[in-house]
Amino acid sequence: MFANTGEIMRIVVDTSSLFYGFQIDGRNEFITTPSVIEEVRGKKMRRNIEMEMDLLKIMEPTGRFVEDVERIARSTGDIDQLSRTDIELIALANETGSHLMTNDLSMQNVCRSLGIPYESFKGKSIDTEIEWGYRCIGCRRKFDRFYDECPYCGSELRKYPKKRKTIA
Ligand SMILES: [Zn+2]
Repeated sequence: MFANTGEIMRIVVDTSSLFYGFQIDGRNEFITTPSVIEEVRGKKMRRNIEMEMDLLKIMEPTGRFVEDVERIARSTGDIDQLSRTDIELIALANETGSHLMTNDLSMQNVCRSLGIPYESFKGKSIDTEIEWGYRCIGCRRKFDRFYDECPYCGSELRKYPKKRKTIA
C-alpha cells in the first residue's frame, strides 16, 4: 500500500494530535480532512499551525468508506462517541492505506476493528488537556454534550476544542 520508497509513511492526523504538538515534517506524507483544518484554524495553539499547513495534504474520504466506518462504529458501540470529523478521519485512513494518529479511544477502537494501524501521540510534556464542545453546523449553537442532531434546528453537531486546561 505504501509507496515503494520504503521509508515514507502515510499518516492521517486528527485535531487533538495537532493540539498536542504533533510535528508535521517533510519526511512523511501527512493527510487530514477539511473539517480538521476548520477546527484548528483560528484557535490559540502552542505554535503557529499555519506554517505547517503547507505540509498537510487535505482530502475528503469517499462515501463508501464513510459508510463502512459508520457501520463498524455502530457494531462496536462507538458511534455516539464519534463526531463527523472523527468518522471522516478513520474513513480517510482506511481509504488511503494510512496510519491514523489519534489519542481518541473510540477512534482507536474502530481502527482496531477495521485493521487500520494507529498510534497515539503524547506531546513532550502533557500539561494540558483539551475540553471538547459540540457546535451545530446549522444555527451555530454550542453544546457541552453530543446530540445526534441539534435540538433547535436538527442539523448535525461537530466536535470542536472548547478550551485547553493545565493539568500539571
Ligand atoms: Zn442548530
